[in-house]
Amino acid sequence: MLSHMLEWYDLRDEEREIRDLALEVAREEVAPNADAHDVDGTFVRESIEALGKSGLLGVFVPKEYGGLGGSPLAATLAIEAISAACGSTGMSFMFHCNLIHVVDGAGPDSLKEKYFPQFAAGKLGAFAINEQRRLFREKFDTTAADDGDDYIINGKKPFVTSAGEADVYIVQVQLEGVPSPIPVMGQRYILIEGGYDGVGAWTYDPMGLRGASNGGVTFENVRVPKENAVGAEPDPMVRSVASKGNSVFSPHLIAMGCAGMALEAAVHHARTHDQQEWMSHTLAPLSDQVNALRAYTYYAARLMEGPVSQRLNHTHNEIQRLGGELGPQVCDRAMEIMGGASFMRSSPVQRAFRDARGSCYPAFAMEHRRANSADGLYGREAYAEQPPTMPWDPHADYNFWLLWARGAAHLPEEAKQRMSRAAFEDFARSRGSDTMTVEICAEYMTSAGRPPAGVGGPPGAGGPPPGVGGPPPGVGESPPVGVGAGGPPRETE
Ligand SMILES: Cc1cc2nc3c(=O)[nH]c(=O)nc-3n(C[C@H](O)[C@H](O)[C@H](O)COP(=O)(O)OP(=O)(O)OC[C@H]3O[C@@H](n4cnc5c(N)ncnc54)[C@H](O)[C@@H]3O)c2cc1C
Repeated sequence: MLSHMLEWYDLRDEEREIRDLALEVAREEVAPNADAHDVDGTFVRESIEALGKSGLLGVFVPKEYGGLGGSPLAATLAIEAISAACGSTGMSFMFHCNLIHVVDGAGPDSLKEKYFPQFAAGKLGAFAINEQRRLFREKFDTTAADDGDDYIINGKKPFVTSAGEADVYIVQVQLEGVPSPIPVMGQRYILIEGGYDGVGAWTYDPMGLRGASNGGVTFENVRVPKENAVGAEPDPMVRSVASKGNSVFSPHLIAMGCAGMALEAAVHHARTHDQQEWMSHTLAPLSDQVNALRAYTYYAARLMEGPVSQRLNHTHNEIQRLGGELGPQVCDRAMEIMGGASFMRSSPVQRAFRDARGSCYPAFAMEHRRANSADGLYGREAYAEQPPTMPWDPHADYNFWLLWARGAAHLPEEAKQRMSRAAFEDFARSRGSDTMTVEICAEYMTSAGRPPAGVGGPPGAGGPPPGVGGPPPGVGESPPVGVGAGGPPRETE
């Protein structure tokens, strides 16, 4: 399954080993269960256990915590191979790896020490981020109230892969009583164990990904130690969303695996049914589309070996959109090639089609993915118009770019000035620094240019009039815009 189609890429030895292990587990232990779970809608528990026993749940856990220490590309190939066998298992596996990636990138180390050995040993992680109609929200409804060394969590997440089955959820919460001019700054990602008192779940009856336990998760007065908050100081949330958005891990990997499987089935069908000639026009573009998607995805995986960057974030958005478009389309064409038999329940290709379609919602639904990609294009132009005049830490520079990619360009002129490169740099100089560190950048973004009580604002274009506090126009009044300020509503990644 899939092996000859992945062989063309120039892999390192350890990546080839992990890919081969994943292909074997996919073929021997995951594929045989896939149809039954698709039909009865039960969770793919045996397949997840097989991933745990083989060590694959630890594919992205660094070796020092007992994992396989695979590269981003090795983990990508593993998710792709598993998704080709079973989209549901692939989706649960992808979110698991994504949780590990976010914590790995954002820290703190204490959280890695606590959970990474458990993930390497077979515990399953999941994402509980989205809330319904988040486009229109000022705040997330799931809240974290401060209670000494703990947070008390209340709320519900209406759509979670592996709902009720995961051992640990990464949950986006709104901190109670923490006012923030930029809504996302008043939020946290926090790890909540499925076994904690007060955690509940329900499931849906979806069209695809039927074995992934698609459902919701509820939190009723759940006591969680504060040490479970993700993201090292001084900018835990910015680090968390930067880590999430600088990644190859996304639901499009499931679409890619499903499309690869459907393509392979269509090639086999055309060849063994004497249809080579008249199917070649339909078949040929499917292969180049799947391989183009793979190449761009593998490129993103290689970029992940470097620091966060505009390039990687934009690539992340583009592969997510492209995979969502190509995955279902390739499966659909493969079904055409295979004739009426492909429409029967017994055909794995119709399952791949439904699973690939299901991968077009998580993280962001398709229209939102298009908006994210377009934001990156506009942001790149706005960013290029403001060259730095001092050295910027790459993380700080990334946040500045993201700010402009998320709508700062649409602010009123005065607020735009406060969010300009010059304003950030003036603020750094007012702090006695001739470089832009992440700390200074986070301080400026968190206060959005608001001066400490009784102190004038940052000098130059960046500062509000002396003695005048308050966020710039549009900031704090706007719907959640990620780390951006004001402007059109866009969730950040
Ligand atoms: C199979 C499946 C698995 C899922 N798994 C998870 C999971 O594990 N964890 C999790 O947290 N969530 C998960 N989700 C939820 C998923 O993230 C949401 O369904 C998705 O973000 C869309 O949100 P919504 O359904 O509330 O639709 P809405 O937000 O109401 O969106 C409706 C339409 O508006 C568009 N839209 C929304 N906001 C914007 C914007 N800012 N710019 C442009 N267009 C926009 C959308 O693209 C869509 O077309 C899953 C969903 C599905 C279907």
